[in-house]
Amino acid sequence: MNNKFTDFKLNKNIIKALNNLEYKNPSKVQEKVIPKLINKEDTIVKSKTGSGKTASFAIPICENIDIENTNIQALIVVPTRELALQVKDEISNIGRLKKIRCSAIFGRQPIKEQISSLKQRVHVVVATPGRIIDHIQRKTINIQNINYLIIDEADKMLNKGFIEQIDIIFENSPSKKTIGLFSATIDKDIQYVSQKYMNNPSMVEIENHEEINKKQIDESYVKIEEKDKYEMLKKLIYSESPKSLMIFLNTRERVNKLYNQMKKDKFLVKEIHGDMSQEKRIYAIKDFKEFKFNVLVSSDVASRGIHIDDISLVINYDVPRDKENYIHRIGRTGRKDKFGKAITMVNNKDEKYINEIQDYIGYEIKELSDIREEKAK
Ligand code: ADP
Ligand code: MG
Repeated sequence: MNNKFTDFKLNKNIIKALNNLEYKNPSKVQEKVIPKLINKEDTIVKSKTGSGKTASFAIPICENIDIENTNIQALIVVPTRELALQVKDEISNIGRLKKIRCSAIFGRQPIKEQISSLKQRVHVVVATPGRIIDHIQRKTINIQNINYLIIDEADKMLNKGFIEQIDIIFENSPSKKTIGLFSATIDKDIQYVSQKYMNNPSMVEIENHEEINKKQIDESYVKIEEKDKYEMLKKLIYSESPKSLMIFLNTRERVNKLYNQMKKDKFLVKEIHGDMSQEKRIYAIKDFKEFKFNVLVSSDVASRGIHIDDISLVINYDVPRDKENYIHRIGRTGRKDKFGKAITMVNNKDEKYINEIQDYIGYEIKELSDIREEKAK
C-alpha cells in the first residue's frame, strides 16, 4: 500500500501543511480512519502508540471545519495537560494554512485567560475533562454546535474515574455529531459509551506484529556469506533438530537447487514453488502436514495463508525482498498457541533489506553471532 494524502482529496492548504510537516504518506491507521471520519462515521480505533492516531482525527477535523463559522466545531478530550498541548500543536500545525484556530483548555491554569482565549472564536478545543466541565458550568464555553467529539486515550478516559465527567460532556453536546474513540488498548470499558452514545460505530484495529510475534515466535538473524549458507543450514538443522522445517528462498530456481542439494544429502525433503502444478503443490503440503517428510523448501507461493499446525522452525535462506512477506513467512510458525522459531540468513548484499524489515515491523530482530552459543543457553 502506497497511498498518498492526496488520495483523500483534502483541501490544498491541508496537503501543503502536511508537506511542511514532512508527513509523506499516511500511516496505516490514518489510511483507514481518515476516510471514515471525513464521512462522519462514528469510529473506535485501536492502534499502537506512535502509529499516528492524532493526525488520523486531526486531518478530518481540519478538513471539515467551516472557517467562517465562529462556533466551536470540534472537541477533543484528553486525560492530561501535556497531551492537551501536544494534540493542540498537531491540530494547529495541520490547520495553520487553512487558518484554523485551536485552543487547549486544562486545569491549573488561570481560568480568566482561558475565558478570554475562548472568546476569540476558536474552531477546535482540546481539553481535559475537569476543566472543560468547569467552563460548561460557568457557561463560558458552548459545545452545542460541535460536529466532532473525540476521546483520545479512551481506555483511560472511560473507566470509573472519568466516566461521570464524560457523561456531562456528552449531555451538553448536540446529539448529531461524529464520535471517535482512540487508544492503543481498548477494552470493555468503552462499551458504556459506545452503546449509550455512538451510532453504529465501526471498529478499526491495526494489527500489532510486535505483540503477536514476540509472544510466539523467537526471531533472529545470522550474518553469513552466500557461499557458506548451506553449511550453516546443516548446522542449524543439527542444533535445532526441528520436528518440521520450512525454508524460504526468493526464486523458484534457488528453491529447486537447494531442494536437489538436500535430497542428495538424504534429508527428508520436498519443494514447493510456482513452476509446479497445482496438484503437486497440494500434495506437497498434504504430505508435509502428515509428516511424510519434515523439510519443505519453498518460494513465496507458500508464504501466505497456509495453515500447518506444527511447523517448529522457519528459515529464511534468503531475506525476502518484499518486507510484508517477512511477516507472512515467519507467520508459518508460532501459530495458534504454539511456540516457534524463525531464523533469517543475511548476506552482505541483504543487510539493507533486513534493516527495512526491522523498520517495517517496528522492532529489532536479534542477531545470532554463534549458533553453538545460542544452543548452550
Ligand atoms: P499515537 O497517538 O498513535 O501514539 P502520534 O499521533 O502521537 O501517535 O504520532 C506519533 C508521531 O508520528 C508524531 O511525532 C507525529 O508527528 C508523527 N506522524 C504522524 N503521522 C505521520 C505521517 N503520516 N508521517 C510521518 N510522521 C507522522
Ligand atoms: Mg496518541
